[in-house]
Amino acid sequence: MNRPKRMLVENVGWAAEMAASDPDFFETLAQGQSPTVLWIGCSDSRVPAETITHSKPGDLFVHRNIANLFSPTDDNMMSVLEYAVSVLKVDDVIVCGHYGCGGVRASLLPMSDALPHVNRRIAPLCALARAHSGELDVIDTMDSRIDRLAELSVLEQVRALRDTSIVCDAERAPRVHGWIFGLRDGRIKVLSSGDPADAEAKPPAASNDTAAPSAAQRVMEAVGR
Ligand SMILES: [Zn+2]
Repeated sequence: MNRPKRMLVENVGWAAEMAASDPDFFETLAQGQSPTVLWIGCSDSRVPAETITHSKPGDLFVHRNIANLFSPTDDNMMSVLEYAVSVLKVDDVIVCGHYGCGGVRASLLPMSDALPHVNRRIAPLCALARAHSGELDVIDTMDSRIDRLAELSVLEQVRALRDTSIVCDAERAPRVHGWIFGLRDGRIKVLSSGDPADAEAKPPAASNDTAAPSAAQRVMEAVGR
């Protein structure tokens, strides 16, 4: 069975399971959405927002693109932000990057002529890498350099989001968080909490293993302050 056929079969099973566990589930779902979180994440198949946070349909308003980049000139991104803040009135906007990001890696390598759209999308990331070349160039391995740039990029997107008129002029401005997901352990690390003062936070050099806080500390970090 090919993948799309398998997905349709799985969908029948999922719908039946959901209805069995909560007979009102789909009736409630059909009445409308009131998510409290806008999630801006990477398109990478390994970082599905709902799965890694145990969220349900209706919990998250989601925008994903390569390398979770925010651009005020991107109407796709801006329309999602506008609707989330002005209509849905979300309490929180979460930018979630991830270690080992292919989009971030591409920004540190020579551009491929075969991918003009990707090149244009990641151009701001290339500029960010140049702006931080002093820090990035002394990092020993390419993988660690990629992970550090992924962290710096999340913080950059958080700052840019906080600067938009959509967020600044909102009746009740949402908190903007910067998170990063570790593929090696499935854990989310908080780089910037919803507190604007944290936008300038300087996270330690990327590593999934360094500074190893306790599991409980990491859970507290992941849920915010
Ligand atoms: Zn990615």
